[in-house]
Amino acid sequence: MTRNAELFERACQSIPGGVNSPVRAFRSVGGAPRFIQRAQGAHVWDAEGNRYIDYVGSWGPAILGHAHPDVIKAVQDAATGGLSFGAPTLAEIEIAEAIVARIPSIDKVRLVSSGTEATMSAIRLARGATGRNKIVKFEGCYHGHADSLLVKAGSGMLTFGNPTSAGVPPEFIQHTLVLDYNRIDAVEAAFAEYGHDIACVIVEPVAGNMNLVKPVAGFLEGLRSLCSQHGALLIFDEVMTGFRAGPQGVQGLTGVTPDLTTLAKVIGGGMPVGAFGGRADIMEQIAPLGPVYQAGTLSGNPVAVAAGLATLKLLAEPGFYDRLSAQTRKLADGLTERARAAGVSMCADSIGGMFGLYFSDSVPTLFDEVSRCDVEKFKKFFHGMLIHGVYLAPSAFEAGFVSAAHDDGVIQETLDIAQQVLEKI
Ligand code: PMP
Repeated sequence: MTRNAELFERACQSIPGGVNSPVRAFRSVGGAPRFIQRAQGAHVWDAEGNRYIDYVGSWGPAILGHAHPDVIKAVQDAATGGLSFGAPTLAEIEIAEAIVARIPSIDKVRLVSSGTEATMSAIRLARGATGRNKIVKFEGCYHGHADSLLVKAGSGMLTFGNPTSAGVPPEFIQHTLVLDYNRIDAVEAAFAEYGHDIACVIVEPVAGNMNLVKPVAGFLEGLRSLCSQHGALLIFDEVMTGFRAGPQGVQGLTGVTPDLTTLAKVIGGGMPVGAFGGRADIMEQIAPLGPVYQAGTLSGNPVAVAAGLATLKLLAEPGFYDRLSAQTRKLADGLTERARAAGVSMCADSIGGMFGLYFSDSVPTLFDEVSRCDVEKFKKFFHGMLIHGVYLAPSAFEAGFVSAAHDDGVIQETLDIAQQVLEKI
């Protein structure tokens, strides 16, 4: 038995499924997960000493590459001064100011410790601020594991969803409307019927949890105008895309301005930080100023905030996003070309430092199209890449992440390996 398999077996004795977050278990691709021992730059090493080029990047945060010296130093310095105080600090003001300065739609921001907390709190705030109950979400968009957001759509134009998870009473999600991503007509219909009671629309402005799916022209603009027209709030869940798709997230790229934005991942630089922010008049509805309760023992944790601040500082260097986008594009185009040359129906797309890999003839724009991608071929590709030292997300429905440490050599090595693997599929 390999060391990874041995550790997995041991982990399964004391941790449900051997993991602390389900996708890590390799269930959808099979085999033992790799237990990571350390990481540096674009690489991770597993418990057997195998080195992999990493395209998971801790599911997004590792935008500078792993263990960037400036971030590690900031964390060490902060830790020396104490791990947590439960009282305000200067560093919290600095990170709030950095977020407010860079994302024009955010006047005020509150820190939390995960993406789930950010979206859950933003939704409570939207309901509290509007005095309405219903929320609109889209099939294939993931907003964390809060009860009212764990809903999958049924078929049809407009469906009240069923809980995706056991343990969520149907009553808890009776106010969640689940619609098709990129179908604005369905949103129009929902507003026509329930507009008076829709508190908010929450959307991944570029979806990264059903592989990578970009908004079609007019979709985000349509959401903006329907929300404004009906007095509902528009929430962009930029937990994944924030400071990743571009310097101001997807809102900066599209010019569509949400009322509230949720962030996490990159703003914590690999430490647990989330945030939600937006218009001052809405944010001022939160306790202690307003009636919407929200709190956290470790919110604004000094060590986590230090990692986030050090990361944001480096992201502000001129040309950072141009370089990151170019490297990611090089990877995506290179993969598409290699697949074509090998006669495999696979293509790739990217935005900023995120990419999607589709076993399909064309880049999907709808959840149904994503669902039809060839999962069996993906599994073969995934394991072929893994054996040759490239660590992709262990699921056909996740986006991939490139970091500033993925230089030309790393991208070229990836493409050479992909060519070999694709030729055998
Ligand atoms: N929203 C989006 C768009 C996400 O991608 C994720 C996590 N992948 C979440 C929310 C939940 O974040 P967390 O896992 O930090 O709770």
